[in-house]
Amino acid sequence: MSIQVYNSLTRAKAPLEPLEPGVVRMYVCGPTVYDDCHIGHLMGPVVFDTIGRWIVARGYRLQVVNNITDIDDKIIRRALETGEDWRSISERYTEQYLQFLRELGVTTISDHPRCTEYVEQMVAFIEQLVAEDRAYPTADGVYFDVERQLGYGKLSGRKVEDMQAGARVAAGADLRHPADFALWKKAKPGEPTWPSPWGDGRPGWHIECSVMASALLGPTFDIHGGGDDLKFPHHENEIAQSEAHGDAYAACWMHHGLIQYGGRKIAKSDPRMQDPEFALQFNARWLLDTYGAPAVRYFLVRSPYRSPIDFEPGTLRGARTGLVRLHKLLGALLEEPDEPTLDEILARELPAELAAQRATFVAAMDDDFNTGEAVAALFKLAVGAKGLAGDARDTALRLLRDLGRVLGLLMPGDAARLAAADCGDERLGAVLDAALAVRQGARERKDFATADGLRELFAAQSVKLLDGPSGSTWELDGASDERLGALLDGLLALRGAARGRADFATSDAIRDALADAGVNLLDGPQGTRWELV
Ligand SMILES: [Zn+2]
Repeated sequence: MSIQVYNSLTRAKAPLEPLEPGVVRMYVCGPTVYDDCHIGHLMGPVVFDTIGRWIVARGYRLQVVNNITDIDDKIIRRALETGEDWRSISERYTEQYLQFLRELGVTTISDHPRCTEYVEQMVAFIEQLVAEDRAYPTADGVYFDVERQLGYGKLSGRKVEDMQAGARVAAGADLRHPADFALWKKAKPGEPTWPSPWGDGRPGWHIECSVMASALLGPTFDIHGGGDDLKFPHHENEIAQSEAHGDAYAACWMHHGLIQYGGRKIAKSDPRMQDPEFALQFNARWLLDTYGAPAVRYFLVRSPYRSPIDFEPGTLRGARTGLVRLHKLLGALLEEPDEPTLDEILARELPAELAAQRATFVAAMDDDFNTGEAVAALFKLAVGAKGLAGDARDTALRLLRDLGRVLGLLMPGDAARLAAADCGDERLGAVLDAALAVRQGARERKDFATADGLRELFAAQSVKLLDGPSGSTWELDGASDERLGALLDGLLALRGAARGRADFATSDAIRDALADAGVNLLDGPQGTRWELV
């Protein structure tokens, strides 16, 4: 069984068949380094690292190039605004980006080429396009002639004719077609420059990826990846200029969905971003420090990579809670350093139920790297393991851990890294978990008074319940001591009601679940009080 990959260019899945048997070469567009990273910058590297890990697990050698755009209009603008040298700006944010990738366990990227290291090759590339009249110099630079490129628009589904109507052409621009794009930009005063036959200047954005991809991976390679927002114009233009240059370029294009907020893509230019508190929730450093890098990685891979990810207050908290649950279940196994290969995991003799979950996980990853279904299989393993004891439990938990590790999850030290992150709601999370366990038990005993009471209690505290195939989970948009107190008071009231009807099963279940969450109940003459241990 081979890996099936969805190709955005053909709009179909096809088996992964590397150009050189046994070796997969992949290029992933990287960041423009002019400002702090946000959650959107982390998605590409984590998604393609997970994809890369699976390709390696399936026995291929892998080369991944992820470029750094270290010269660009935005960097120059930042330098002019702040008076800081453009190099020191781009170096600082490059280092920040690479540090985040280390924290997130991104291990499969082999090269991080910087745009400024390849300017000479870019000039040579553009010279060839100009010599063949596929590009032409103007007063302010060199432009690519899109009309002479057969099939321009094939990736994004746009037509050159349609671009005419909508395009706004600056007065005096001497372009052959409004959709023609800059390969070389002549320098304005005060800007960093490199020499070229068309005057001092700097490369346009699109050209750098074409040149660095072919320099490091060859004129044709297996996979080109990036976010959905890069399809047009960036990737369309990469294809056009590389094909015009005579390169076959990428055989397969992969695009990941974008981070959304309230169902929409959130841009830096969104007016709400002026509010520092609003903007902070997207800030990569803040997210990693608040929720922990393992939770951020898990959040980014728990759904299929092509879907957009809804990012709202509480979603990362919910992801973190799910991960903490897996960590607790694994206990000491989580700290063992073993990292068996996929082949070793597949060779294990397993009871039918576990073998079926393993097969589900593998089939999901082979089917266009469906991490959403693969993660769901991990949770099914977790649910199943809870009901086991002894060796059977150990076997199930090892399988869960080792499959997770193939995706870069459930690594040694992850629990400590989550604990070190200051999310401030561990206790509330534990109490909500306890309440969910009570609700599950009440439903099974058909104790609807308690189950309904819990539902009302959650609603009153704006706790969202999500019932899924792997059990229920919860999300909430902010932790506070008042909320914790209100939930505990509500649970005590439900326990009091159960005792009133002599339902000691429910009453004991609430006491035991809260004890697991580190809350003691003290029964006294004035009623019951709760106390945090
Ligand atoms: Zn690119």
